Amino acid sequence: MSDNSKTDLIREIRSLLKYHKSIGIDSYPRTKGLESFLEIKEQPPAPSPPPRKYTRPVQVKAAAETREKHIFDPSLAKKTTLTDVRQELGDCTRCGLHKSRANIVFGQGSEKAKLMIIGPAPSAEDDHGTAPFLGASGDLLTKMLAAIGLSREEVYLTSLVKCFPAGGQPPKEEEIRTCLPFLFRQIEIICPKVICVMGKQPAQTLLHSKESLFRLRGRFYDFNSFCSTELADKMLIIPTLHPAFLLDNEEMKKASWQDLQMIQKRLG
Ligand code: SF4
Repeated sequence: MSDNSKTDLIREIRSLLKYHKSIGIDSYPRTKGLESFLEIKEQPPAPSPPPRKYTRPVQVKAAAETREKHIFDPSLAKKTTLTDVRQELGDCTRCGLHKSRANIVFGQGSEKAKLMIIGPAPSAEDDHGTAPFLGASGDLLTKMLAAIGLSREEVYLTSLVKCFPAGGQPPKEEEIRTCLPFLFRQIEIICPKVICVMGKQPAQTLLHSKESLFRLRGRFYDFNSFCSTELADKMLIIPTLHPAFLLDNEEMKKASWQDLQMIQKRLG
């Protein structure tokens, strides 16, 4: 390979890694392709881990201990609608992301949804289409939902922050913190049975964890470790892979399908 080709290849790999980081992926499954690319020598097989199964929800202890709980107010939730929250958000300039957005992408779907899906931030397509999960990854999400008997209209789709970050970068901690109260209000009003967080940032933020998405996914967690009152007790949270990651990593669709089946079982 010529020096120029090597430089191009390295540039492309860097750009792909940057994109994966932006959607919350910071580690990779060890596949045959990856092994041959990295020229990893054959190793004796490791003992297989015990199978993952549907378990009772897990209390994420760090959450309650280290961060302030959002106090859900059931009486307020009953009196408030998503339209009220959107009006309160207004033409928001509370954080720096207002400078890079064309539109606020508040959320889309049913106010009575049993399943709420939360991504990291609107994409450039979402920003112009004013709805979350558009484009190729949105199409894949629609198919994933159809596989468990749900339409986009039956669920509620939104993201941690409501404005497109410049260059599709992950939103900063400060920006997430500023926008989070509006996400809580949405959760409070919808009160879904299951909250599915897609990607590393939504998973780590809502679970108050620094664990990788690959370690967090595939199980339910109590949402009440994060929020108090009986409203939060009714909700479970499950982290899974973002459809944009699945588009480039087809071999991970099986893991994603397992998560979807757990959701389907829980929703009954
Ligand atoms: Fe406001 Fe949220 Fe947009 Fe920041 S991301 S400007 S807090 S709506």
